[in-house]
Amino acid sequence: MLKHEVVVVGAGLAGQRAALAAIEAGREVAVFSKLHPLRSHSGAAQGGINAAVGKEDSVDTHIYDTVKGSDYLGDQDAIEFFCQAAGPTVVEMEHFGTIFNRGEDGSLARRPFGGAGFPRTIYAADRTGLALLQALWERLGTEEFTLYEEWDLTSLVVRDGAVQGIVAFDRRKGDFAQVAAKAVVMATGPFGRVYGRTTNAHSCTGDGVAAAYAAGAALKDMEFVQFHPTALMESGILITEGARGEGGILKNALGERMMAKYAPHVFDLASRDVVSRAIVTEVLEGRGFPGDYVHLELMHLGKEKIESRLQEICDFTRNFAGIDPVTQPIPVFPAQHYMMGGISTDIHGATTLRGLFAAGEAACVSIHGANRLGGNSLLETLVFGKEAGIAAAAYAVSATAPSLPEGGLDVATAPIRAWSRRTEGEDPSVLRTEMQRVMDRYVGIYRNESDLLEGIRRVRELKKRFAQIRVVDQSPVYNLNLSDALEVGHMLELAEAIVVGAYARTESRGAHARRDYPVRDDARWMKHTLAVRGPDGPKLSYSPVAYTRWEPKERVY
Ligand SMILES: Cc1cc2nc3c(=O)[nH]c(=O)nc-3n(C[C@H](O)[C@H](O)[C@H](O)COP(=O)(O)OP(=O)(O)OC[C@H]3O[C@@H](n4cnc5c(N)ncnc54)[C@H](O)[C@@H]3O)c2cc1C
Repeated sequence: MLKHEVVVVGAGLAGQRAALAAIEAGREVAVFSKLHPLRSHSGAAQGGINAAVGKEDSVDTHIYDTVKGSDYLGDQDAIEFFCQAAGPTVVEMEHFGTIFNRGEDGSLARRPFGGAGFPRTIYAADRTGLALLQALWERLGTEEFTLYEEWDLTSLVVRDGAVQGIVAFDRRKGDFAQVAAKAVVMATGPFGRVYGRTTNAHSCTGDGVAAAYAAGAALKDMEFVQFHPTALMESGILITEGARGEGGILKNALGERMMAKYAPHVFDLASRDVVSRAIVTEVLEGRGFPGDYVHLELMHLGKEKIESRLQEICDFTRNFAGIDPVTQPIPVFPAQHYMMGGISTDIHGATTLRGLFAAGEAACVSIHGANRLGGNSLLETLVFGKEAGIAAAAYAVSATAPSLPEGGLDVATAPIRAWSRRTEGEDPSVLRTEMQRVMDRYVGIYRNESDLLEGIRRVRELKKRFAQIRVVDQSPVYNLNLSDALEVGHMLELAEAIVVGAYARTESRGAHARRDYPVRDDARWMKHTLAVRGPDGPKLSYSPVAYTRWEPKERVY
């Protein structure tokens, strides 16, 4: 049996930062990752990371922008803590070796981002995530820890209300193992793949969130799903908000600068929920291009700026759409991009389950509330990754030795092994595609009661069919058929929590836009949704939002 003091699941920015903090606190640490750490989705982040540095900007403005961006659902105490940590966090990453772009005077260059009152997004061209991930990986490499690469977490082991370890699956050999741990940090990242049209990598399937949910931890605010306004047509590849930050503009098929209507003060740099709805409205009202999209124009920025500041965007549009952004407009339409919801945690990463901590996109603290501002998520991974690592290390010191149940591995893996023994059954890849269609169609940018009810019905039907799946590939080595099946099972649970939460919330707030309840309803709905897994699906309850200084106001950009 494998045994470690602190187990971190996930090796993106959040997991690596948590591991580093736990090691620095003197604990023995193991990191499990289904991917090579540098292939984590953090490496796909383009636009940048927010921090109020320099004289003209202020931490207070960053706090205010984040509170407003969240449509007043973000916890203000957490947001204050988060924004205050921003400057030191970015400086630390620079000291670890991240090469950020510089201004003429040598200070950190900053670009404007949506919903921000000041240009505060610090960047490394349009490869900020990769620059951060590489620097942190090199820093972590100077420490001692055990890396389990290409291992999939499948479930948590819980006894007497506390986490005792994990069950994981070694992709290279096909073996399952129980791993005893005093504390577990869940940092498994996004789950955007519950949708078909998404900017998220194929690996973003929410395994850790689903495992925490299955083990009894509460999920928070799952109904809040961010759609990024500008994803490339067909592929859904992200065109960073940095493109509009550098001066790109959106135009409808009539050639109008469409955002003038929806955000008369900041135009294309309104927050993401506002811009996404604007694009969908233009298309629905007949002002989109045939094929349902609008144009993002960069041409007026000039070749030099486009090719130096937006190098990846040039590569993506040229290679995946045959379009040169220097001379042609880019066809865009929104795609799922970020999950505001996740495993409910406090500021220090503690979840509702003893011994389990969470950070990064898998967690919900909540600082993003109903809508995340671009550039706040990379920052979140580092700020709260560190907090979760420190808290897990402290917990591990006082926790008793983990005890794993006799024969527990057989019990935990019996249902999974049964999939491979079936001679007939459902194909998990078919269920995945059907789930993605259901989520795209019924739980998208605009929602209403009848669609959401249909969404619930269809997701539940898929869950029933999932109980009958068959894994055809019998090979123990790199059995991706089995990994796929595990991921689809996880995503179906999360899809259900999203749609049930969305159905219950009869108001519009941030990214949750109900056509049948078009206004924000602070009297009834200024509260977080908590979902706990029950035998018949998620059981919902609600918890208050923390306030410090900002009274809720109507959100206008
Ligand atoms: C295309 C794109 C661009 C973005 N751009 C920006 C930006 O410019 N600025 C910004 O602030 N935010 C941006 N975001 C959001 C931000 O990048 C993410 O929220 C953040 O990087 C998530 O980091 P993470 O560490 O939580 O997860 P990830 O980086 O996704 O890491 C998850 C880790 O968990 C591991 N894992 C998952 N499941 C398992 C399992 N079952 N067993 C073991 N390991 C597992 C994976 O191997 C991986 O190492 C962007 C997101 C996308 C998709």
